[in-house]
Amino acid sequence: MLTKTKIQSKLKQILPKKNVLTTIEECYVYSQDGTNGVESKVLPDVVVFPETIEEIQQIMSFANKHKIPVIARGAGTNLVGACIPVRGGIILNFTKMDKILEINKTNMTARVQAGVVIGQLQDKVSESGLFFPPDPSNLRVSTIGGAIAQSAGGPKTFKYGTTKDYILGLKVVLANGQLMEVGVNTIKNATGYHLEQLFIGSEGTLGIVVEATLKLIPKPETTRVIMAYFDDVDSATNSVVKMIDANLYPSTIDFMNKNTIETVEKFYKIGLNTSKEAALIIEIDGFESSMDTQINRLKDVLETSQASDIVISYSQEEQDKLWTARRASFGATAKLSPDVVTNDMIVPRENISKLVNGINDICEKYSLKVCIVGHIGDGNIHPQIALDLNNPTEASNYEKAKSEFYKLTLKLNGVLSAEHGIGLEKKAFLSDSVSPLALEYMKKMKNVFDPNNILNPDKIF
Ligand SMILES: Cc1cc2nc3c(=O)[nH]c(=O)nc-3n(C[C@H](O)[C@H](O)[C@H](O)COP(=O)(O)OP(=O)(O)OC[C@H]3O[C@@H](n4cnc5c(N)ncnc54)[C@H](O)[C@@H]3O)c2cc1C
Repeated sequence: MLTKTKIQSKLKQILPKKNVLTTIEECYVYSQDGTNGVESKVLPDVVVFPETIEEIQQIMSFANKHKIPVIARGAGTNLVGACIPVRGGIILNFTKMDKILEINKTNMTARVQAGVVIGQLQDKVSESGLFFPPDPSNLRVSTIGGAIAQSAGGPKTFKYGTTKDYILGLKVVLANGQLMEVGVNTIKNATGYHLEQLFIGSEGTLGIVVEATLKLIPKPETTRVIMAYFDDVDSATNSVVKMIDANLYPSTIDFMNKNTIETVEKFYKIGLNTSKEAALIIEIDGFESSMDTQINRLKDVLETSQASDIVISYSQEEQDKLWTARRASFGATAKLSPDVVTNDMIVPRENISKLVNGINDICEKYSLKVCIVGHIGDGNIHPQIALDLNNPTEASNYEKAKSEFYKLTLKLNGVLSAEHGIGLEKKAFLSDSVSPLALEYMKKMKNVFDPNNILNPDKIF
């Protein structure tokens, strides 16, 4: 095993010195990510900012030869400890590989470097009348590399699907430094195994994504956002089933429970109705001429679902205000206590009420303050829990509650993660959610791609 100094000096030969960070203070910043409650006592040996694929190939080839862990990092906003360098090693930071290389309007594709920020990509493709729907709800900072690695979804999954549905091809640097091109730049492909899909959700454990060819779709002409309040959670969740029965196809159906409505209003003063038990934020999109029809049909469904106080926002400013309510929920919850932890589960839609009510009961049992939000149209729920992780009782209660959340999710035919991934946070529970044979083959695949276990070791398994 090479010493830290030798690793650092080799990397200063591969990269310009300005792109190599080595001080304790600099490395400390990269020993953590967006996850609360999962920490590493170990700092990375070095943090590097590659600017070319060739540099990454050289780094990987060096790291593989000396069995040095390599952890790719986008914006570090994941919520499962997926970037935490448990064994030290090299942090490969993608902030300097953030270029949009090509937008092809005729093919409706974009070719981008892995560090491109999703919000910037959305803005740029929109200038050509195109749309890239995946949005990990923090699209102004998070990267396409991170979204691919975590199989990110976001609010628009109900209509448009998740990141995996928009990846046509990838360039990946393998553990040994070889550059592999997988997938295609065409819309269809039946040419062998879809290896590009293997890297989606792999959390940087199978290869380093350096470039992606993305599918784009035509940008919807216009949008409206509708907020509807309910006196009980069941009416809100049942309305989703009724929307589907009525052949309605909103781009987003997001949920906030009473605690969330109250907490967001307390800190952001948006004008939310805090007397209600639940709210849905529904976005519709399409041609301007279809808006009134969609809104009228949606209002019918909401009214028969006992919704009250239906607010329809027409202007972009009003829509942004309603979206702020949903996007601000994590930040608002964080203001309630020294820490906030969040989770991510998904169940088939018919079981969503049972999941929301069950999470409430579990949190009540363990005296935890919970704000529940979620992409309810998908059956995907995010309990956000405000607590003090330095208080041993609260920390231990959260651990117990978490394990009960997972048991409940599995009992309701769901899975442990819809879009945040496994990382360090959920790996102890993976075998409860994946069949033994599937798990065995996942581990075999890891061994094929990374026999020395240098790519983001200790994550997922
Ligand atoms: C407030 C908040 C709300 C969120 N809401 C949602 C949501 O609604 N939907 C959703 O899906 N997610 C959500 N997330 C989580 C989301 O998955 C991540 O925040 C985001 O996708 C991570 O992108 P990133 O660039 O920060 O990646 P990072 O956190 O830097 O990395 C994530 C993983 O990707 C790997 N990785 C990064 N770049 C590469 C690369 N080039 N090659 C290989 N591996 C790589 C890393 O090693 C790590 O395993 C939310 C997060 C926050 C903080």
